[in-house]
Order: sequence, then structure tokens, then C-alpha cells
Amino acid sequence: KRRSQPSAEDLISGILKGDVTALSRSITLIESTSSTHLEKANAIIKGCLPYANKSIRIGITGVPGVGKSTFIEAFGNHLTQLNKKVAVLAVDPSSSLTKGSILGDKTRMETLVKNTNAFIRPSASGDSLGGVARKTRETIILCEAAGFDTIIIETVGVGQSETAVHSMVDFFLLLKLAGAGDELQGIKRGIIEMADTIAINKADGDNLKQAKLAKVEFNRALHLYPNKDSNWQPKVTLCSALENEGIDAIWELILAYVNTTSTNGYFENKRQEQNKFWLLQTIEERLKSDFFKQAKIKEALKKQIVLIEAGKTTPFAAADYLLSLS
Ligand code: GDP
Repeated sequence: KRRSQPSAEDLISGILKGDVTALSRSITLIESTSSTHLEKANAIIKGCLPYANKSIRIGITGVPGVGKSTFIEAFGNHLTQLNKKVAVLAVDPSSSLTKGSILGDKTRMETLVKNTNAFIRPSASGDSLGGVARKTRETIILCEAAGFDTIIIETVGVGQSETAVHSMVDFFLLLKLAGAGDELQGIKRGIIEMADTIAINKADGDNLKQAKLAKVEFNRALHLYPNKDSNWQPKVTLCSALENEGIDAIWELILAYVNTTSTNGYFENKRQEQNKFWLLQTIEERLKSDFFKQAKIKEALKKQIVLIEAGKTTPFAAADYLLSLS
């Protein structure tokens, strides 16, 4: 006889007791594409929402090989020693293409995965970054309701995913390598502008000297930016994830950031702004996909494209016509 599935109420009370099995099962429902699962997931999110919000959400990004997993392992273990409960999630926009997550992979965080005060969840997959981001945001709520007070969201430093992660965290940490020659690229891409702290990793052994030089360089670059609304001056720091150096200092910086921004109201304000952003983002995405999903639109769109190519209509007239059909 098949065991019956736990109800939404069972899962909610499990989560509130800190039961990670209930948490994992609920996240699986969030990630599901079945509409009955989603209905149940929504009930669980609603039940957890009053208990969420009490955490520090930290985004961590950096190019592949910079040491994200090694860092999160060291950082996560440091936090649990301070009696924190740490959840590690990942936003990996490429997972649907690579058929399997490259981030948040449990085998890459060997000791943290065995740590009973840590919860590691490999990234959700999805056909759009927006979809993956929504699932991650909902997963944050459940993790917080389960008592995780520090949420780490890892993302790989390529493409649009940093922007998505930046808009769901309180503090954004950029991991960098010294002498990788990508300092200026990073500045161009605006990622440095998002960073609340830049940590130059692998500042050990023969690398240390170059790391110190890079620190001066990044500090100079950061001073070119106008002051942030947070009133927080972004910091540059050195660390060695491998040798567990400078990890505690990064946590101290995060606490200082939370202190500054809680006092001046920015912390709470930013979360409200993020909620508004995701509300509008979700509506936009839903309207768009509902529109293009319709058979009559698909059909008419093809015809309008032919007409545009033949010079018989303009893109604007065609758009007006297509929008009037739905
Ligand atoms: P990720 O792709 O950003 O997650 O990077 P990984 O954590 O998998 O690390 C990539 C490689 O860099 C691994 O071989 C690590 O052992 C090494 N590594 C990570 N952190 C450090 C560090 O602080 N110092 C040194 N020397 N090597 C490191």
C-alpha cells in the first residue's frame, strides 16, 4: 500500500518545527510543474509567511573556479559554530541547459552537508531565469520559517543571474581572484557596483602578494562610484577559503552592514522594494507567457510576420492588431 502524501497542514507544522524532511518535500512541491502540487505549495507558503523574514540573506557570486563552494563550506561551518542555522540555495540559470545543477552541488560541500545546522539545496531548474528566481524566493520563505537565520544564495558570475540574486538578498558578496585580469571587465559589467563587499579569494601562498595589490586596485575602483543609498561604503577584503583565513572578518563586515542599514532604515526598505519588484516582475512574465501561449496568437503572429516582411504592415500596427486579439 502506498503511503499517503502529507497534507499541506502536516508539512507546515513540520517546517515550523524545523523538520528538514518536511522542508525538502515542500521545496519539491514549489519546484514542481504540476498544478495540484503548485496549489499545495502555495498553501504551504501562505502558512509559512508569518514566520519568515527573520534572517540575513546573503548573495555570493563569482566566476567558476573562484572558490565559491570552498568559501561557502568554510563560511557555513564558521556560522554554525556561532550557533547559526544556515541554508544554502543556488540560482543557476544554465541548469536547464546543462541538465543538472553545477551549483549548490552537495558533493562539493562535504563537511557542510553533514552539519546538522546546515541545509543545502541544489538549484531549481526551470526554463526561465524568472521561474528559477521565483522558486528560490519562495524557498527562502520556507527556510526562514524552518528556523534558518542565515540564507546563502549562490550564483555563478556569468550572465543575468547576479542581478536576479541581487534583488532577493540583503547583502551581496563578490568573490574575486587577484591577477585574473578581469577587474575592469567586472567594473564594466556593473557587478562591482552591486557588491557590498569584494572578497579576493585564494589570498594564500604565492598568491598573497598579488592579492594585496588587487585589494588596493579594487579599493581605488570602488571610490569612483557615488555613495550608495544604503550609506554603506563597500569594502574590499582578502580571504583564503582553503586555509580558512579571513572568513570570520567577512561575517563581521556583514554584521556591520546589517547594523548600519537597520539603523538608517535601508534594510527594511530594500526588502519592501524587492517585494514590489518581484510583484511587478511576476505579473509581467505571466502576462507575456499567457499572451504568447494562445493558439490564435501563435497563428496570427506568424501571419503578421509575413506581412511585415512583405512590407504590407508595420511592427507597430501588427502589435496593435495582435494585442487586440487576446
Ligand atoms: P567554484 O567553482 O567557484 O565553486 O570554485 P571551487 O570552490 O570549486 O574551487 C575551485 C578550485 O579552487 C578548487 O580546486 C579549490 O580547492 C581551489 N580553491 C578554492 N578556494 C581556495 C583558496 O582560498 N586558496 C587556494 N589556494 N585554492 C582555493
